[in-house]
Amino acid sequence: EPMGCVDLVAVIGQAVELTEARLRAEGVTLDWTPPPGEYLALGGEVRLSQVFVNLINNAVDAMAGASEKRIRIALDEGPKLRVQVHDTGPGIADPDRIFEPFYTTKEVSAGMGLGLSISYGLVQSFGGAIRGANTETGAVFTVELDPWRADE
Ligand code: ADP
Ligand code: MG
Repeated sequence: EPMGCVDLVAVIGQAVELTEARLRAEGVTLDWTPPPGEYLALGGEVRLSQVFVNLINNAVDAMAGASEKRIRIALDEGPKLRVQVHDTGPGIADPDRIFEPFYTTKEVSAGMGLGLSISYGLVQSFGGAIRGANTETGAVFTVELDPWRADE
């Protein structure tokens, strides 16, 4: 897949669609209101949709035992385009290690610990960045991407 112009509203929509059945089955509410306007990033559409599917699936995993199960996806524009995936889980146990290959806190059968390390490499290959942090209500993963420019 070549790198090019990616419509972030469309890609997030795809990721939401791909995870919808699981969200419903696990009783997770997802808030995603596409902002008005165009958010065109430099990247690969298939790879970026995989990154967001990974983040959503991790959020669902993390909220398995939570009383409130809510994912909120936000998209905004600063110097970079920024997508944030918030959840209402227990938060990240060891934020310094989550991007290490094979780091997982899940049962052997449930996770290989590769999702975030692969996502990290993909986002980095687009010139972007990904990070995870804890909030008062759970975890938040932030993906920052360069805006697409017509001359690229
Ligand atoms: P896996 O999902 O197979 O465990 P990942 O690379 O996707 O592998 O994630 C690595 C680890 O990061 C997880 O096992 C978990 O400990 C932590 N993590 C990822 N997302 C979240 C989240 N939303 N809330 C809390 N911890 C998380
Ligand atoms: Mg994962």
